[in-house]
Amino acid sequence: MEHSPRMTINGRAVGSPESFEVVNPATEAVWTTAPDCTREQLDEAFAAAAAAQPVWAADIERRRAALATMADVMVKSSDELAAILTQEQGKTLADSKAEIEGVGVWFKYYADLAFPSEEVIQDNEFGRVTTVRHPLGVVAAITPWNFPLALAAWKIGPALLAGNTMVLKPSPYTPISTLRMGELFAAVLPAGVFNVVSGGDELGEWMTAHQVPSKVSFTGSVSAGKAVARSAADDLKRVTLELGGNDPAILLDDVDPKAIAKQIFWGAFYNNGQVCGCIKRVYVPESLYETVARELAEIADAVKVGDGTEPDTILGPVSNRPQFNRVNELLAEAISDGATLRSGGKPVGDRGFFITPAVLTDVSPESRIVQEEQFGPVLPLVSYRNLDEAIAEINKSKYALGSSVWGTDPARLREVARSIDAGLTWINTHASLTPNVPFGGAKWSGIGVEGGLGGVHEYTQLQVVHEPQG
Ligand code: NAD
Repeated sequence: MEHSPRMTINGRAVGSPESFEVVNPATEAVWTTAPDCTREQLDEAFAAAAAAQPVWAADIERRRAALATMADVMVKSSDELAAILTQEQGKTLADSKAEIEGVGVWFKYYADLAFPSEEVIQDNEFGRVTTVRHPLGVVAAITPWNFPLALAAWKIGPALLAGNTMVLKPSPYTPISTLRMGELFAAVLPAGVFNVVSGGDELGEWMTAHQVPSKVSFTGSVSAGKAVARSAADDLKRVTLELGGNDPAILLDDVDPKAIAKQIFWGAFYNNGQVCGCIKRVYVPESLYETVARELAEIADAVKVGDGTEPDTILGPVSNRPQFNRVNELLAEAISDGATLRSGGKPVGDRGFFITPAVLTDVSPESRIVQEEQFGPVLPLVSYRNLDEAIAEINKSKYALGSSVWGTDPARLREVARSIDAGLTWINTHASLTPNVPFGGAKWSGIGVEGGLGGVHEYTQLQVVHEPQG
């Protein structure tokens, strides 16, 4: 990095009197520090966002042009940003580049999205009724550490297109790539439109309690999401909450295990299982259980785990120390409760938060590794005899983000898909994501959606204008 990371407040790059350390999860070494935003600086960021908003909201063509330029900036800066992302998050350079290029795709989508802010929904003898979509104003956006740039883009694109301005806070584990993105966008956007501040959970609490923003867009854990909702309630701020998931993959008895094993594996272990909507438990008919376990374990054994900067690495480390400890704890508990480790589950070397991909069989459906979100490279396989009972078991969960059904009979797949409590259900694939498709959770997995026109509407206030027939 050419200089120490800085926040972007009112178009300016600023440091802070205090800073915090950022650790490389592959080496456990502190590789840089990030500014710890003060309350005064946060006030300044929100004031700048509020001041910039009316002018920003006035010209949609200018906003579209800016989003298109931001897409180009991301793609042009992908080498620089990927090096940062890999150092702070752990994912391979290839996966970092894919994330950044994805951000470009998302911004481009929003730059081009038809977004009629007015729609006549009735025009007859009883009157003319128009719905008008106004921007909400200033958005407080808070993101986690698994896809720092992509998940920020899911908020920035629709919020800015709709005419809002933003103050964004990345996770304290992965702030640097987002800080750098803020600096890059300062050259594209009017001052105050997009501000990036860095700090810990307390800074997030200040943001949700702050008087200026009228909307909080949060991606993170269920527990923090509930705290955000409580805090936002005081002022009835609008919220979009994208929270944890414990996605089941349900294999039907006509599935071909060999044909789907690779997709199931990568649907579970992409980004080391640190994906909100990735497979976190697999329900397998008893008759296929052993074959599925063998196929998945074989793939796991062939995966090279190491530092994400090494060219032959396929999976990097778990992203931070608390998550590493939690995944190891869940794994150890499952094994001591009788689960069989069919692959992986081991460290690599003596430094870094590495866990080789672990496939577990003989897992009790009640165990924590099945009931909780592990968010790491451990996949439990649950055997079932009766499909209806398995679905009833799955639907007991408070998590209801993604899910998938695997088999060969399309009619049966569609029917089973509709019986699952979830925000998203994929058939014969998992976590297939494109910017035009709404993404969001049911139950504790969230409120609202990101993506598509529905995602833009989350950043608007609907006004109905009713006039008598002239
Ligand atoms: P986290 O909830 O600990 O932190 C997320 C962000 O919220 C961080 O920036 C953090 O500083 C901030 N924060 C924490 N407590 C806060 C509070 N009380 N008020 C305001 N801000 C607060 O989550 P994490 O460990 O960074 O991320 C992992 C979690 O995120 C997993 O549960 C995962 O499933 C979820 N996630 C969900 C989605 C989705 O789209 N549904 C996407 C990615 C990750």
